Amino acid sequence: MANYKHIDSALIHGGIYGDALTGSVNVPIYQTSTYEQKGLGKLVGGYEYSRTGNPTRAALEALIAELEGGVSGFAFGSGMAATTAVLSLFHTGDKIILSQNVYGGTYRVLAKVFDHFGIGFDIVDTTDLAVLDKAITPEVKALFIESPANPLLTVTDIKAVADIAKKHNILTIVDNTFMTPYLQRPISLGADIVIHSATKYLGGHSDLVAGLVVVNDSELARKIAFIQNSTGGVLGPFDSFLLIRGIKTLGVRMDRHTQNAAFVAQRLRQNKAVKNIYYPGFEDAQGHDIQVWQAKTGGAMISFELYENYSLERFFESLHLVALAESLGGVESLVCHPSTMTHAAFPKDIRDAVGITENLIRLSVGIENEMDIIEDLEQAIRQSEVK
Ligand SMILES: *Cc1c(COP(=O)(O)O)cnc(C)c1O
Repeated sequence: MANYKHIDSALIHGGIYGDALTGSVNVPIYQTSTYEQKGLGKLVGGYEYSRTGNPTRAALEALIAELEGGVSGFAFGSGMAATTAVLSLFHTGDKIILSQNVYGGTYRVLAKVFDHFGIGFDIVDTTDLAVLDKAITPEVKALFIESPANPLLTVTDIKAVADIAKKHNILTIVDNTFMTPYLQRPISLGADIVIHSATKYLGGHSDLVAGLVVVNDSELARKIAFIQNSTGGVLGPFDSFLLIRGIKTLGVRMDRHTQNAAFVAQRLRQNKAVKNIYYPGFEDAQGHDIQVWQAKTGGAMISFELYENYSLERFFESLHLVALAESLGGVESLVCHPSTMTHAAFPKDIRDAVGITENLIRLSVGIENEMDIIEDLEQAIRQSEVK
């Protein structure tokens, strides 16, 4: 067991380190579906079939559990497979409260899939704790939040929400994709379950799709392990290896992402074309005081709106470095148009009600040179002005 105290060391040495058999510093890719048994029920290394368990995946699962400070971790084939596994804890007649900004796919799986099984949901402004407390009826079995939330980067007080959930004896589920355990650890704030789209910052290189779940108690761990094995949306050994590899550099990447984002946000705010800008790192941003208390930094996601005399089509087409693409959290800077891309699954009336306007642009600030990023954005803004 390596000796370290800090999370940036845990990123590299946490979970299961290397390979005891050969001394390899990396966990090998156990590209196998099954494991030969020495006799009936006599397993060699505790593994019998790779849906149930695989050593490369197990190393990743131990790593994310350690990083989030939970008791067990679980790896899935996508963030949505992870969310689906967590939502499979609930039964017909149960209801889940969603924070008002969540990933479009989370809304969609509840509205269009879990709906078939009689699991309901309400969208509530979780930044208003009194409203949240009142919304908890006896059917409500969990609060599902993102903070900062997608795409308007609203900050919810995770500890206060978890305290309310505890009072009602229900679960707190936090999608921690935008922050990662390097910046924010929801279990330490009282959350029961943490979900990640590891496709984003954890993987960090836009080269894989994966999801992770971490739980804070052994009963929940037993249930999620059962659901994972029963429904089978597991992450393969190669992608598990890539994710372990990505996580090793999470600390240095997040530091640079954050530093670049603070610079880009400041410059965008000074741009006369920018009508609104949302970035939890601004001192006057909604929830900034909560953000600095519950997370290490404001992260690296920025959303902004241009004035009506700027053409979004031209803006996106004029970018030469920053790419127009779904997803976020990779080393390269990406922009997207939430109302037609990540949040298209929301009906227009909900989008309008929660402030996802047609003009909104979401920016995932990468780790390129900060001047190259801002200059590309500024020239595209100039090109997009309709005279
Ligand atoms: C992308 C994303 C998801 C879904 O994850 P996939 O890996 O795309 O399935 C869930 N939550 C948030 C916040 C996301 O950004």
